[in-house]
Amino acid sequence: MPPTVPTRADLESLPKYVPGRTVTGAIKLASNEAPGGPLPSVAEAIARATTEVNRYPDMGAWALVDRLANELEVPADMVAVGCGSVSLCQQLVQALCTQGEQALFAWRSFEAYPIVTQVAGADQVTVPLDATHTHDLDAMLAAITPKTRLVFVCNPNNPTGTAVRRAALERFLDQVPADVLVVLDEAYREYVTDPDVPDGLQFARERDNVAVLRTFSKAYGLAGLRVGYGVAPAHVTTALRKVYVPFSVNALAQAAAIASLDARDELLARCTEIAAERDRVRGELLATGYVVPESQANFVWLPLSERTEEFAEHALDSKVVVRPFAGDGVRVTIGTPEENEVFLEAARTFQRSS
Ligand code: PMP
Repeated sequence: MPPTVPTRADLESLPKYVPGRTVTGAIKLASNEAPGGPLPSVAEAIARATTEVNRYPDMGAWALVDRLANELEVPADMVAVGCGSVSLCQQLVQALCTQGEQALFAWRSFEAYPIVTQVAGADQVTVPLDATHTHDLDAMLAAITPKTRLVFVCNPNNPTGTAVRRAALERFLDQVPADVLVVLDEAYREYVTDPDVPDGLQFARERDNVAVLRTFSKAYGLAGLRVGYGVAPAHVTTALRKVYVPFSVNALAQAAAIASLDARDELLARCTEIAAERDRVRGELLATGYVVPESQANFVWLPLSERTEEFAEHALDSKVVVRPFAGDGVRVTIGTPEENEVFLEAARTFQRSS
């Protein structure tokens, strides 16, 4: 029998968000998470916050917003928080696009962009990455139409790890029409080691049509608590709050985020170690014969095309879960040195067997 209550027909064609798998007994290098658990000070802040979970959280997360504004050197009215930065991606499209208006992004990029665009009733325009798996900003500029309301630039890009450099981004921003918001999605900013990859906050401070998204999920190790933040022109953050699901950044997440900012130096030192491991893992993979674009994030990309699934299965046989993107490539999160060794050995045996 057909269902009596119809749901939106266009949801049938919505791509699925595929989370990295968790397999008992296997190492998970599939979701770009931090390998270490919370610092004791952060765990304590979370425990303290649990004593008041009978109360709603601060809906505006003002203590966290003020703290972020201070750290990021922007006015508090330019800061917004969300239930993960993925929520802010969704809020941005909802706040900027009406039906038939366009969100533009590179492809392949973060898999949530097509989903949040379609859910908002907006149209997506995608521009292929270039031959080096990097954003083709000239082609993206050429793809802007009068209906374009926002452009996502994922820097570094998920899942390829590639990053656009300062001169190219500045040239792009200089030419984007003033009424189009450029969203610099910097979920992996803390792993960037090349000084020529610009800090997007500099542009958000100076320009009226630039937003930056960051998250506590990766460098700060709070993926399970769901809290991200954005810096955007004040009228945009006002609009973001209008489409915010009330109270969606919960009290434990707010407390943990503030405690993580207190422990910032220690957490960022962990990112430096991960970045060094990333470069080591890439070097080993190159030496083994793989093509691996230069990564500025906490993962590497293996463009394996039709061998993608086979590689992922081989890795799983070796007790490592990686993230395959069917027919395109495999993304591998950088874990502890021991975890990375297990992965590298799997990569070597795959190469030898083929
Ligand atoms: N942007 C990018 C590029 C990402 O890769 C992710 C997480 N996979 C997010 C945003 C969202 O992260 P979160 O919702 O956990 O903050």
